[in-house]
Amino acid sequence: MKIFDTYFKWTGKLLTRPLTRKIVLHHRAGEGDVLSIHNTHLKNGWSGIGYHFYVRKDGSIYRGRPIEKVGAHTEGNNMDSVGICFEGNFEKDIMDKAQLESGRLLIAHIEECYGRKLEIKRHSDFGATLCPGKNFPFEEIKKASCDDLVSKMFSDGVISFSNIRNWELFLSGKSRPKAEYIRAVIKRYQAKNQSQ
Ligand SMILES: [Zn+2]
Repeated sequence: MKIFDTYFKWTGKLLTRPLTRKIVLHHRAGEGDVLSIHNTHLKNGWSGIGYHFYVRKDGSIYRGRPIEKVGAHTEGNNMDSVGICFEGNFEKDIMDKAQLESGRLLIAHIEECYGRKLEIKRHSDFGATLCPGKNFPFEEIKKASCDDLVSKMFSDGVISFSNIRNWELFLSGKSRPKAEYIRAVIKRYQAKNQSQ
C-alpha cells in the first residue's frame, strides 16, 4: 500500500486533534482528483481539504489534511476522528475491488498508527446525509483491522519467519507484538514498496 503525499497550502492554522477515537467514512458523491476537493473546500471558506485521506476509484490513496490535525468532514465529530473520502457516488456506483481493498488497508494502517482498533463509522451515523451512499460496502470495509495489514505483509513476503510465533499470537488476537517490532516490519515493508 502506498500513500501519495500532497503538498497543499493551508489558508488557516490547523489545530492538533486532542484524541482519536474513530474513523468516519465518506463518499465524494462525484469524481475527480484530490486537488479538486482541496479547491472546493477552500471555496467553502475552510483551511483546505477537510478529509485526511482520499481513496480514488483505481485504489490509489492520497493524503489530505495531516492525520494528526483536526479535520473538517463530520459536523460535531471532527475533534476525535480521522476522515476518509472515497471517490464515487455510492448512491448509484458499486465499489470496485481495488478501491475496497485500499480502503481496508488504509483503515488497518491508521489503526496501526494509533496502536489500537478505532470505531469505524459512516458520515450518516452522525447526521442527516446520504453519505457515503446506500451501495457503500460498509460492512466489508469495516472488517478491516490490523490483521489485514499483517496478512498483506505475509502475502508480500516481508515478515521475518523467525518471529512467526509473535505474529500467530497477534493474528489470533491474544497479544500484540511490541510496537518497535511492528515499526521495524512496517519500515521493511515500505522499503520494499519503494524499491519496486
Ligand atoms: Zn460525508
